[in-house]
Amino acid sequence: TKNYDYVIVGSGLFGAVFAYKMKQAGLKCLVIDKREHLGGNIYCENVEGINVHKYGPHIFHTNSKEIWGFVNQFVEFNHFRYSPLANYKGTLYNLPFNMHTFYQFWGTQTPEEAKQKIEEQKAKLNIKKPQNLEEQAISLVGNDVYERLIKGYTEKQWGRNAKDLPSFIIKRLPVRYTYDNNYFNDKYQGIPIGGYNKLIDGLLEDIDVLLKTDYFENKSSFDEMGTKVVYTGKIDEFFDYQLGYLNYRSLRFESETLDKTNHQGIAAINYTEREIPYTRIIEHKHFEYGTQDKTVVTKEYPQEWDKDKEPYYPVNDETNSSLYNRYKKLAEAEKNVIFGGRLAEYKYYDMHQVIASALKRAEKELGL
Ligand code: FAD
Repeated sequence: TKNYDYVIVGSGLFGAVFAYKMKQAGLKCLVIDKREHLGGNIYCENVEGINVHKYGPHIFHTNSKEIWGFVNQFVEFNHFRYSPLANYKGTLYNLPFNMHTFYQFWGTQTPEEAKQKIEEQKAKLNIKKPQNLEEQAISLVGNDVYERLIKGYTEKQWGRNAKDLPSFIIKRLPVRYTYDNNYFNDKYQGIPIGGYNKLIDGLLEDIDVLLKTDYFENKSSFDEMGTKVVYTGKIDEFFDYQLGYLNYRSLRFESETLDKTNHQGIAAINYTEREIPYTRIIEHKHFEYGTQDKTVVTKEYPQEWDKDKEPYYPVNDETNSSLYNRYKKLAEAEKNVIFGGRLAEYKYYDMHQVIASALKRAEKELGL
């Protein structure tokens, strides 16, 4: 029997926002998730009173007044600005690349001096048509910035040498000739006060949820429970991998609780040399200006993905994109299933983008 208008597979932002819109329209949803908690990758775990970003650090940023207003209905945001440091062989640099960074490199104090320095370095190498990521990066920012802040970091992220990576991975590199350490350019930015779980709990209030419930273990009975299914899991898994596996980059997080109030004085430090196996250390309390007695730090290690690991980043190269397009064709033939979110669309979505996409999809569904 159809007890629900929508059975929603996945309680991440896509599923939660879609469910919220349907609830507002008076429709009934069931949200299921195979994890033991709601929220997908924005879920935070409370450790010693600190919101630990369990699936990697999340900073909310958007240029859309509408999306900003939407999320602020559920939780207030603080004034956090993401401005990570880079540690290269024990020396600290400001990110993203800006006048502070250039001062730290060369002692240049004016935009003219910094520009000249970068132009000199670019000219010396004289790269006409970049053949790989290394040449592309050097042709954009010169070799000092490249060697110390880009090379090792990128090689760790992709598990390959920069010379073997395609140049298109780095289309542009944001270089700022101002003393501005704010990583994002968006108008609105912050961290939910009290954590991301408040946002998810607000969205899913009064909606039926089932945790530790894998759709595929009872697919036909879930299909029967709802008029339609909203699927936010991996698209290839929906079709039983019949065309092959889509590839991802995965991550491994190593967290520890330290018996001190402040470990590194900032939310994120990137470790940009190749020899250190992790790419960054996160100190979670700094996202919320925490004053707890203890602190939790997390080292982030990139790793190859296999089907037993969490799929973090889609690999949007030609092979995977064309495989995705073939799955998408199969998805289009499923008339009672809506595919949405980062796994079902095999797309790197930021939070504000996935919210926008779920709102749009829900409105289309409601004929608005
Ligand atoms: P998810 O959050 O992945 O939710 C999908 C849910 O579906 C999961 O809970 C999963 O358990 C469930 N599911 C899957 N298959 C099944 C099944 N068979 N049965 C039941 N349940 C199932 N965005 C930003 O805006 N700012 C950031 O700073 C930022 N940092 C990020 C850092 C990292 C390391 C990563 C990986 C992403 C980051 N993002 C960031 C992106 C952000 O996480 C996503 O935009 C957002 O979480 C996507 O929501 P979603 O609902 O599409 O997917």
